[in-house]
Amino acid sequence: MSAELIDGKAASANLRETIAAAVAQMKADHELQPGLAVVLVGDDPASQVYVRNKGVATEKAGMRSIEHRLPADATENAVAGLVRQLNGDDAVDGILVQLPLPAHINSARIIEEIDPAKDVDGLTEASAGRLMLGKPGLVPCTPQGSIILAKSVRENLSGLSAVVVGRSILVGKPLAMLLLAENCTVTMAHSRTKDLAAVCRSADILCAAVGRPRVIEGDWIKKGATVIDVGINRIEEDGKNRLVGDVDFDAAKTRAGAITPVPGGVGPMTIACLLRNTVIAAARRRGLAEPLV
Ligand code: NDP
Repeated sequence: MSAELIDGKAASANLRETIAAAVAQMKADHELQPGLAVVLVGDDPASQVYVRNKGVATEKAGMRSIEHRLPADATENAVAGLVRQLNGDDAVDGILVQLPLPAHINSARIIEEIDPAKDVDGLTEASAGRLMLGKPGLVPCTPQGSIILAKSVRENLSGLSAVVVGRSILVGKPLAMLLLAENCTVTMAHSRTKDLAAVCRSADILCAAVGRPRVIEGDWIKKGATVIDVGINRIEEDGKNRLVGDVDFDAAKTRAGAITPVPGGVGPMTIACLLRNTVIAAARRRGLAEPLV
């Protein structure tokens, strides 16, 4: 048996098309062009690439991309002041502060400065609280993308047993909340979990957000399970530089019913979900009907 491959690139392209259509409709109906502001502090090369990609994707979707670059030695107060300025700018619907920030800046303080109505990364305490309470809010992008992919192969997740390996604020915890909202029976596993193999074997939906190459072994996968691999790990193998997930893909695909590859799985969904949050934020802030994205 070989698992169905869950194509994150195709799902992301579909979602972006839907978002672009929603943006075009907003322009036609309300002369409104949603805007996403990205704040980049310093010159970390990976962050620069991410910010550039986000800008290109935002414009492709018909939205306005606003980039603010501050030097690596910018003070915490300067970054906080910029975020407050963006909170008050009516042309800005979403604010994303590219992480990590330089070590002298308290990231948690900066994130809390973001107006929750514009928190398109879903990282403020207000957004996390809304997710916990089951109230509408802006949900972190990678967990949202993971759910969309899981539902692309199993429309109804209700009653299924879901295991999330990893409990970070960015991925594991919000993903567990979203699975709970889908009526899964959720287990959260982490570095102190006893007999992780047995826990994973109980999962109809297995989500790995660990950050360790191939830590989830093939025979830990229940036959027919849906496997969502969030991990992105760069390794040297056979003299080549490769990206691999947290799941041993080649072994897992012989047991899983469906599985996301790395790269080309959850990764491409993250930016698409950022655009989705921006168009939703633009509508909600103005009391317009929420676009079906
Ligand atoms: P963190 O390092 O913040 O969290 C990792 C989690 O994995 C922790 O909860 C940790 O447990 C747990 N863990 C570590 N080792 C083990 C182990 N041996 N067994 C079981 N659990 C373990 O990582 P993130 O959540 O930020 O990211 C996870 C992965 O997802 C990374 O590879 C990252 O690159 C990727 N990622 C991908 C994105 C995408 O767009 N596709 C976006 C964001 C992240 P404990 O809490 O006990 O320490």
